[in-house]
Amino acid sequence: MKVTQLPDGTPVPCLGQGTWQMAETPARRAAEIAALREGVALGMTLIDTAEMYGDGAAEELVGEAIAGIRDRVFLVSKAYPHNASRDRLPRACERSLTRLGTDRIDLYLLHWRGDIPLGETVDAMAALHAAGRIGAWGVSNLDTADMVELVAAGGEGCATDQILYNLTRRGPEHDLLPWLANHAMPAMAYSPVEQGRLIADPTLNHIATSVGATPAQVALAWTIRNGDVIAIPKAGTVDHVRENRAAADLTLSAADLAALDDAFPRPRGRRPLEML
Ligand code: NAP
Repeated sequence: MKVTQLPDGTPVPCLGQGTWQMAETPARRAAEIAALREGVALGMTLIDTAEMYGDGAAEELVGEAIAGIRDRVFLVSKAYPHNASRDRLPRACERSLTRLGTDRIDLYLLHWRGDIPLGETVDAMAALHAAGRIGAWGVSNLDTADMVELVAAGGEGCATDQILYNLTRRGPEHDLLPWLANHAMPAMAYSPVEQGRLIADPTLNHIATSVGATPAQVALAWTIRNGDVIAIPKAGTVDHVRENRAAADLTLSAADLAALDDAFPRPRGRRPLEML
C-alpha cells in the first residue's frame, strides 16, 4: 500500500475508507461491516468517521467492524464545531470512544469551522493528546486563510486538513494544497469519487477504458498521484472495496494525466474551498 506520513512521522496509507451514510439501512449493515474489514485486510487501514454520521451510528458500526482488529486500524473521527470547546471536546471525545469501543482515536478532527475560537479548539485538542485519548489532531473544511489563522493561534501541531478534493473539485490546487505541502501536512481528500457521480462521467469512462482500469480506480489513482494526499472513498460492498484498493497500485502515465487535465481542468483562478 502506498503510504504518506503525518507531520509527526506516523505512516498512514494513501487510500483509506470513509463511512458517511453507513449504518443508515439495517439491510446493508452486514455488507458495510464486511466491506470495512476487507478494506483493512487489504491495507486500507485508515477508517474515517464522525460523531455526526448517523448521529453516532456510523461510529458504532465502525466499532463493530474493528472489534478484534483495532491494532491494525488507524482511526479518524471528527467533532462537531459546537463541541470543539475546552469544556465540550473532552466529553464529545469520550462519547466517540465509547461508540467506537476503543480507548484512543488516532486522529481527531474539527469537522468544520464554527463559532469557537480556533485557539480554544487547539488547546482542547492538545489536552486530549496529552491525556492519551487521541494520537494526533487536525481539521476539516478549513481554507488557506483559516489554516494560516490556525497556525497563528498555536495550531502548528495540526496533522491534516480533510477537504473536498477530486477531479471535479480542483480548486485546492491553487493555494491550499501547496500550503499544506509546505507545512508537511498531507491533505485528506473526501468524496474522491464525488459521491459516485464521477463514476458515471462519460469522459472519465473513456479514459478509464484506455488505461485498462475502472473509472473509480482512475479517479482514486489521480487523487493520490503525488503521494501527499490520502483519499477516503466510502464503499459499502466488498466488491467496491477490492476495486478501490487496486487503485493504489495504478500509476497514471504523463499522457493519462494530460488527458485527465484536458477533461477536468483545474479552475483558472483561486476558488473558495467547497464543501459537501
Ligand atoms: P465518495 O467516497 O466519493 O463516494 C461514495 C459513493 O461512491 C457511494 O455511493 C459508493 O457506493 C460509491 N462507490 C465507491 N466505490 C465505488 C466503486 N468502486 N464503484 C462504484 N461505486 C463506488 O463520497 P463520500 O462518502 O461523500 O466521501 C468519502 C468519505 O469522506 C465519507 O464517507 C466520509 O467519511 C468523508 N467525508 C467527509 C466530509 C467532511 O466534511 N469532512 C464530507 C463528506 C465526506 P457503495 O456504498 O454502494 O459502495
